[in-house]
Amino acid sequence: MAEAPRMPIESGCPDPIQYMHPTMRRNYGQWAYHDRPRPGVLHHTSKHNEEIWTVRAGTQRQMDVYTIKKLCDISDEFGDGFMRFTIRSNIEFMVDAESKVEPLIKALQDAGFPVGGTGPTVSMISHTQGWLHCDIPGTDASGVVKALMDDIYEEFQKSEMPNRVHMTTSCCQINCGGHGDIAINIQHTKPPKINHDLVANVCERPTVVARCPVAAIRPAMVNGKPTLEVDEKKCICCGACFPPCPPMQINDPVHSKIAIWIGGKHSNARSKPSFQKLVAAGLPNNPPRWPEVGAVVKKI
Ligand code: SF4
Ligand code: SF4
Repeated sequence: MAEAPRMPIESGCPDPIQYMHPTMRRNYGQWAYHDRPRPGVLHHTSKHNEEIWTVRAGTQRQMDVYTIKKLCDISDEFGDGFMRFTIRSNIEFMVDAESKVEPLIKALQDAGFPVGGTGPTVSMISHTQGWLHCDIPGTDASGVVKALMDDIYEEFQKSEMPNRVHMTTSCCQINCGGHGDIAINIQHTKPPKINHDLVANVCERPTVVARCPVAAIRPAMVNGKPTLEVDEKKCICCGACFPPCPPMQINDPVHSKIAIWIGGKHSNARSKPSFQKLVAAGLPNNPPRWPEVGAVVKKI
């Protein structure tokens, strides 16, 4: 008889304390102050006069196993063997002696990782999943990030911005992403095109009708088959009908554009909530380098 399958242990995310550098564990909640000795380095001193240095480097969000192994090797050889990723895909190495900082920075830079991202810098751009992982993207968010960071990664290393700058890119208009000082989002400008032959076979029509925020979709019959129709005067081109109904194709090489929003409640954790402002719309979705997007971001 086959062995019983191994059942998952439903215990939530693991306790992070066990993975912390011992100096951080000992001084958890007991930090007195911190300073930034140079871009990419944080220096914390605890109430018990213990010190720790954090070296931050930039990485891409979607990483192959060889790159992760390389980072682990750098951590073992030049750090204390402790590292973590931030939500903006920066990697941080913690060391307990100042003398370890410069060799660690050199090892990271020699391996091609820029060191920076602390204080008033342009931090790494966080982005949504895109073509790798999602079924509705109108562009490849990680491609826009690559093109942009090639243009501005020196700002990650320099700490010369007026304040911290967090950027995001989102590959559709309605779902994840968009939480930054500068948010680069896809923007559809034409209503969906319906493939009536497929709707009846593929889509749960009431679900699609319910998804529309402006009640622009209604059931219809075409060539004797049940399908849907869109009142194009009402449609705001949001794309919400496309995920539950792929035959409502809204992605378009010409009419799916890029919009750039700035500010808003995500841009500064210390200010009261406010709305983002639209500063550029209708920019072409122009791979592989998205030059029009890069020009606007640099101007901002
Ligand atoms: S932003 Fe939209 S298309 Fe991109 S990963 Fe999120 S849900 Fe998918
Ligand atoms: S794109 Fe948005 S507004 Fe237009 S029909 Fe689909 S869900 Fe409704």
